[in-house]
Amino acid sequence: MSEQRKPETWAVEAGRRPDWTHGVVNPPIYRASTIVYPSIAAMDAANLDHDGVLFYGRKGTPTTWALREALTGQEPGAAGTMLMPSGVAALTTAILSVCKAGSHLLLPDSAYDPTTAFVFGLAKRLGIQAEAYDPLIGAGIAAHFRPETALLMLESPGSLTFEVQDIPALTAAARAAGVVTLLDNTWAAGHVFKGIAAGCDMVMQALTKYVGGHSDIMMGSVTATAGHFERLRNTVWQLGHCVSGDEAALALRGFRTLPLRLARHEQSAMQVAQFLHQHPLVDRVLHPAFADCPGHAVWKRDFTGASGLFGVVLKRGSRADAALFCDGLRHFGLGFSWGGFESLIIPTSPEKLRRVTPFRASGLSLRLSIGLEDPEDLIADLASALERMETAL
Ligand SMILES: *Cc1c(COP(=O)(O)O)cnc(C)c1O
Repeated sequence: MSEQRKPETWAVEAGRRPDWTHGVVNPPIYRASTIVYPSIAAMDAANLDHDGVLFYGRKGTPTTWALREALTGQEPGAAGTMLMPSGVAALTTAILSVCKAGSHLLLPDSAYDPTTAFVFGLAKRLGIQAEAYDPLIGAGIAAHFRPETALLMLESPGSLTFEVQDIPALTAAARAAGVVTLLDNTWAAGHVFKGIAAGCDMVMQALTKYVGGHSDIMMGSVTATAGHFERLRNTVWQLGHCVSGDEAALALRGFRTLPLRLARHEQSAMQVAQFLHQHPLVDRVLHPAFADCPGHAVWKRDFTGASGLFGVVLKRGSRADAALFCDGLRHFGLGFSWGGFESLIIPTSPEKLRRVTPFRASGLSLRLSIGLEDPEDLIADLASALERMETAL
């Protein structure tokens, strides 16, 4: 179904079920805890677990069903999607749906820092053994599988350092060994890379980022194949995760314009990255579309585009000099998160997060999220910052 529609068309039509909404274009915002039934028979009939029947607020309403259906359709081959109150909650829930005490899990060395914190923190206390691996290992991952390996985590490109992983090779190796795969597909926004089609069993997204797109919600999702969806749903229910109708409606509003916004984010980010790439103070740009980005060939092969988030490493300066660069910026906000309409920048220290593969930086490292402003304004802003650095250092 979704496979036959172009992404822009899918984004507009997805999850719109007149039988859920009486034909209203946007599903009304349901604020629900209790649903009351006219009879015991009606109550018993509702206690089935499928969308389209209201049972209890925590288990969803037409507002959340619409968002879930839209996200499932974004990943051809998927069976269903569950929503969580943040991207981190989506990641930890997906991990707990697969791993138990004694399980071994593999995590790319370039993983999002809070993911690493969970697998080496609370997950470890629960008896799950985590091991970091080289994100560029590809089919070589097979050598790291043990009899007790339950989960191979994937994130492409990696957080802060942007290595692109060979997802088809990694998922093929995992499948052969009976290891479940979970991809963090936040950078691609579920749009420029299709994880389930590339062999992943589960794909998560921080909807907080590009799907929300307006810096006003926290939410996460996990989309799974038929073989993994039921276990995921039961884990979500047992942990008690749910999202509000108000926030689901905002996520759905973001979803409608996702392909359009992402195209602009991509285009502007490329312009800004190209400016930085040729600047004498810049050592390298960490962006999958650049030939020197680790995994660039895989990105070209597997992705249909890019988003607006990338990194840059300067030739000089250190974290201590970050204020020189950042404090005088007029158009970039200094803030965490990304994927909103406004440009953001943060200094980063990826070398401190590495466990098995070193990251070397000659100078100050920064991460930029390019928003929907005119890229010429952003470039002028960065040019002034680079000038300040060159004068001072
Ligand atoms: C932000 C982010 C998350 C977590 O999302 P939150 O909604 O902030 O919890 C997970 N993965 C990646 C790659 C992210 O950038």
